[in-house]
Amino acid sequence: MREADDGVVIGKVEAELPAVTAEAKGEVKDFHFPPVLNGLDFLQSAVKSLSGEDGTPAPRDLKYAVLHLQAAAETLFKSRLAMEDPSLVWSQPAKFDQTKHEAGMFHSCGLVVALERLRDDVGIETAIDPKDADLDALANLRNRLQHFEAKDTTIAVQARTIPVLDVLLKFIDADVLPYDESPEAWDAQLQMDEIRAGFRHLKDFVDHRLDALQETLETFKDYTVRCLSCGQFAVMLDGAKTVHCALCGRRYGSGSDAAWEYSGTSHYSVVTDGGDTPVHDCSECGTTAVFATPVASSDDADVLICFADGNSFEGICQYCDRAADFAMEEAEMCQDCLDTRFAKF
Ligand SMILES: [Zn+2]
Ligand SMILES: [Zn+2]
Ligand SMILES: [Zn+2]
Repeated sequence: MREADDGVVIGKVEAELPAVTAEAKGEVKDFHFPPVLNGLDFLQSAVKSLSGEDGTPAPRDLKYAVLHLQAAAETLFKSRLAMEDPSLVWSQPAKFDQTKHEAGMFHSCGLVVALERLRDDVGIETAIDPKDADLDALANLRNRLQHFEAKDTTIAVQARTIPVLDVLLKFIDADVLPYDESPEAWDAQLQMDEIRAGFRHLKDFVDHRLDALQETLETFKDYTVRCLSCGQFAVMLDGAKTVHCALCGRRYGSGSDAAWEYSGTSHYSVVTDGGDTPVHDCSECGTTAVFATPVASSDDADVLICFADGNSFEGICQYCDRAADFAMEEAEMCQDCLDTRFAKF
């Protein structure tokens, strides 16, 4: 972010586009990226960097791939908004001013708002949830890369970016190119051909890695959870000492450590802040490692599963608070508690 002359903060994407300002000043003629081509240029760079020469890009390429993919998404979503009405790109459309717009001197709306406007004001064909989990994961990865240290495997980044690329390509085909009436529309079509080819290449590479795992994953699908790094169902809770992802190699520590990481909180926070714990004791192995999350065989519903031994359970026993199968369904009571109760008579 930088301050423009009149104190208006220029949004990140605009700041990366000196072409707009330079062109507005009439200084530079051979540096011109109209919005759609600009977005596609970021996209092409991302796809190329993600693939590398032979599917194994250098770490530095991977970093720029993520930054450029995020920039591509923002630029392309906003270019479609601008085709509809340039003021929609502004965080406050009512304050739209053509001169400032051309100079890039305005706060632009964020990604979530851009997607809401595309859905509500433009009525785009491609269904994109403004809070799409894959876009969110990409934004998080971008933030980590830009502001913190980033540690991930190549395949994790590649696998993470594929769903984002997939939705972006659909969006460009259905909602951008058909509405692009600029003189550069034909160039955009040609560039998309190259991007599609690059994407297929990348997807084949990742699919190939996944195929190699498929047979194993099929056997373990009832206790395989989605990896937080690569986003694939490839973390098998098979009772191994260290929970890890079979695709990208990400390690999560013990079953208990893993369950807490998946829950997004910690034992410490639950104790200090109070409230219900999301991680429960397992009635089979006794470990505090049961968390509700989708598994490969049921990817749209949470399953209460023990990260230490892979057992899944019906619910939490109302009497002992452990994750268990119920012996008395109506009472939500586990077998142990039922036995204890009858032993008293
Ligand atoms: Zn993974
Ligand atoms: Zn257990
Ligand atoms: Zn019980």
